[in-house]
Amino acid sequence: MLQSASLDDLKNLCATDDLTDIFCKLVSFDTKSDPTSQTVPSTKGQLVLGAYLVEELKALGYEPQMDDLGVVTTKVKASEGYENCKRLCFLAHLDTAPDASGANVSPRLVKNFKEDGIKLDNGLVIDNDLCPNLKDCKGYDIIVTDGTTLLGADDKAGVAVMVELLKTLKKDPSIKHGPLCFAFSVDEEIGTSADHLSLEKIDCDYGITIDGSSEGELDVATFNASKAKVDFTGVSVHTAVAYKVLKNAVSLAAKFIELFPSSERPETTRDLEGFYHIHNIEGRTEEAHLDMIIRDFDLDGLKKREDFVRKCASFINDYVGYEACKVTITKQYRNLGAVLAESPEILDICRKSYKDANLNVIEKSIRGGTDGSNLSCRGLPCPNIFTGALNCHGPYECLPVQSLHKSYDVALALISNMTSTVRK
Ligand SMILES: [Zn+2]
Repeated sequence: MLQSASLDDLKNLCATDDLTDIFCKLVSFDTKSDPTSQTVPSTKGQLVLGAYLVEELKALGYEPQMDDLGVVTTKVKASEGYENCKRLCFLAHLDTAPDASGANVSPRLVKNFKEDGIKLDNGLVIDNDLCPNLKDCKGYDIIVTDGTTLLGADDKAGVAVMVELLKTLKKDPSIKHGPLCFAFSVDEEIGTSADHLSLEKIDCDYGITIDGSSEGELDVATFNASKAKVDFTGVSVHTAVAYKVLKNAVSLAAKFIELFPSSERPETTRDLEGFYHIHNIEGRTEEAHLDMIIRDFDLDGLKKREDFVRKCASFINDYVGYEACKVTITKQYRNLGAVLAESPEILDICRKSYKDANLNVIEKSIRGGTDGSNLSCRGLPCPNIFTGALNCHGPYECLPVQSLHKSYDVALALISNMTSTVRK
């Protein structure tokens, strides 16, 4: 039988569970980011939430700062005697995905999840077919939406965990810790957040993003990523005199696309397989343009793919007899796995922290990038831990409360386990 969600049950839980209460306050802010915006952050709502956080953290006795891009950071001084431990920075992002509305989010609770599925208020159904991870949530309480918006657990669950950690550190001085930084970033969902983060300001040895998905997962590798812009130049004449003269840029673009194997697309690959993804095309007889992304876990593999894109362009040029096709390839991010391989210490600390939180760690290579992929390549090794959130970026998004607590437990264990490290 499908279970339905209750507003009152969530209200009651918030009265007794501080972490859930913080989370519910955070999702009441509309912080959807906007890829078409010219400003940083891309939407005002992120500044509003940032300002709220600054006030909350000040009230706790911290000295948070918001920079002119909207990034909020707070430093936590080491406990006495722990000043020489390596410095750890937690990161989570304030914005939510542009894919679905983040306004007037109305969270509610499904208590003691059985196994069949959940019927949201507007009739949408979350079941095992849609979300195979649900089978691991039997007996959990799950926060869902009313079906009309996303929930925003990506990444307000991560933000909530960080705020709760800051509260705990103030409340309980018996928890010893090294120097810590807490950074709340903007515009992660439109791919620009890491560019707005200053490593000088963060000034840490390791980072941890709290932005992963299901309970127990630890993201230790990401794709290597490049994008390519491909421009086609045609020769346009009246069709009456076109014979052997007209070169149609639209046809050239179509010919170019046909050169890519259909077995190497996002929809035909999985696990550790790379792909080409042509995601935008526009054109007319005179000129055409297409945009593609190129992904591979292996850096040599990525380079080979980039070469293949260039070869396809040469093929088109040889075919028409002039330089009709031009390719511009830009680096996007690199596999954080390569950086983490050189910093095994932080991964060992993560593994121990999962164990301390009574979790079996599931190490994953994710078919995407994280803020950590960018930060790791810039010199801040940065794995990604789970928040518990499932089905992110749409109305099916949900957050098992017990998983959220596990995320907090892991983060707290990370703080303790960092005290065994020494800065040289
Ligand atoms: Zn996220």
